[in-house]
Amino acid sequence: MTRITVAHVDLAALTRNFRAIQAFLEHEAATVHRAARVVAVVKANAYGHGAARVALALEAAGATMVACADIEEGVEIRRAGVRVPILVFGALSVSDLGGAFAHGLTPTISSPGAARAVEAAAAARNTTIGCHLKIDTGMHRLGFRHDNLPWTMPAVIASPHLRIEAVYTHFATADDADRDLFNEQRVRFDAAIETLAGLGVRPAIVHAANSAAMLRDSRVWYDAVRPGLLLYGVVPPPLASTIPLEPALSLTSRVVAVKGLRPGEGAGYNWRFVAEQATSLAVIPAGYADGLDTRLGGRGHVLIRGRRAPIVGAISMDMLTADVTGLDVEPGDEVVIIGRQGDESWQRIDAREMAAAVGTIPWEILCRIGARIERRYEE
Ligand SMILES: *Cc1c(COP(=O)(O)O)cnc(C)c1O
Repeated sequence: MTRITVAHVDLAALTRNFRAIQAFLEHEAATVHRAARVVAVVKANAYGHGAARVALALEAAGATMVACADIEEGVEIRRAGVRVPILVFGALSVSDLGGAFAHGLTPTISSPGAARAVEAAAAARNTTIGCHLKIDTGMHRLGFRHDNLPWTMPAVIASPHLRIEAVYTHFATADDADRDLFNEQRVRFDAAIETLAGLGVRPAIVHAANSAAMLRDSRVWYDAVRPGLLLYGVVPPPLASTIPLEPALSLTSRVVAVKGLRPGEGAGYNWRFVAEQATSLAVIPAGYADGLDTRLGGRGHVLIRGRRAPIVGAISMDMLTADVTGLDVEPGDEVVIIGRQGDESWQRIDAREMAAAVGTIPWEILCRIGARIERRYEE
């Protein structure tokens, strides 16, 4: 049994996106001294695409490392059979640290307390553990403050069971060309790398760039970049890119009923939509329980028979309605909620368009696609 509303994940498109990003880095590498590698970001169930299948596909495509948010995600990816290093971005809680050792995950050390906890856990297991050191250059969430390293680092460096394999930072405003914080963070990070070298820390890998930073400035590519959104074929707004990318996910359904309304009649909760003229509504079995934003009513579109049909009225838990007046639509017709239905540019709705329609960001659109939606993989 499968539901009518399905998310199709095109693993071949994902692989092409990965290769396109890598080719872009290699092409530009003449200006920076060598091509950066790609750490594939697969946190949050690979932005809703399904972490296990996506991580395996990206590993096969050549990713030398994948990254996730917490140890639980890392364990799932390792159990799926991924062999490359799995970096855990998030803060570590002592309770789940065991998973990092049992499954060979690479934790981020972002505070003196985290360093002590991981050091103690490694010592107790009589082993050493490779880890990445996170420097806070201005995001002010996790990481050692860039201007405090001479005081915080000695204890970390002296931890005999920690191997610092990489140092990284994260940009707060890479997608905002009007803010100078991006450049300040870059300069602070370069200074932090020098400070660390003075303290005797010379990691094999330095990394900093998410998708937006990677597009914005090749000076922050260092040894590796960490794209997430770009891998899935979506360019972070408001940026543009010449890298040939395709959205890897599409969300489709079918019309389950067509309802005729007379002028003055409304439909759905609170009659948020009222027909001004004779109107045909297509009923589509996807709603906010599937992760569709309630603000799509009156703002978003779906594609039916190659046309854009406005989503009207309230988004229900399990259903939405689209105005298909004059479109000759029948029950059973395919509905594209995210994806394309034809080759014209207007026959495409991507996460970026949907996010703009409701006033959110494309990351959220993808991550919210509901757990009850089946992910169907196409090789
Ligand atoms: C999520 C995340 C990324 C990837 O971000 P995108 O904007 O999706 O490219 C990179 N680095 C860190 C630390 C992250 O948390």
